[in-house]
Amino acid sequence: MMMIELPRPLADDLVRHAREAQPDEVCGVLGLRAERVVRLERARNAAATPTVRFTFDDDGYRRVMQLEREGLEIGIYHSHPASAPYPSATDRAEMSATWPDCLQLMISLRHDATTGPEVKAYRIDRNGVVSVEDLALVDG
Ligand SMILES: [Zn+2]
Repeated sequence: MMMIELPRPLADDLVRHAREAQPDEVCGVLGLRAERVVRLERARNAAATPTVRFTFDDDGYRRVMQLEREGLEIGIYHSHPASAPYPSATDRAEMSATWPDCLQLMISLRHDATTGPEVKAYRIDRNGVVSVEDLALVDG
């Protein structure tokens, strides 16, 4: 199984973004090279109900295209301010249709005040089947 590497500075940026927007969910684009996250681009959450779902605006999609042009594999991240770092039924439905097999990072703040944030990685295929990816925090 592949191990996804997430450099600590980028993990810190993900958590900072998630905390800033509470109680709303945040979202953004990841650029990967050789199973390592090398770029993180914040996107605006344009969902009508941002506490429970996320949607990119046009600028978010432009960031996806920009990273694709740079030759990077695309990943998506979003936060769950109050629920587990696991794909919701909405996530499974939307990701399987829009971003099948794409790396998904999910940041949960449900226990942030006690044990800290949780970050997990998944892929969701066209049928909505979730697979867990190993995620390693790495220096630099
Ligand atoms: Zn979600």
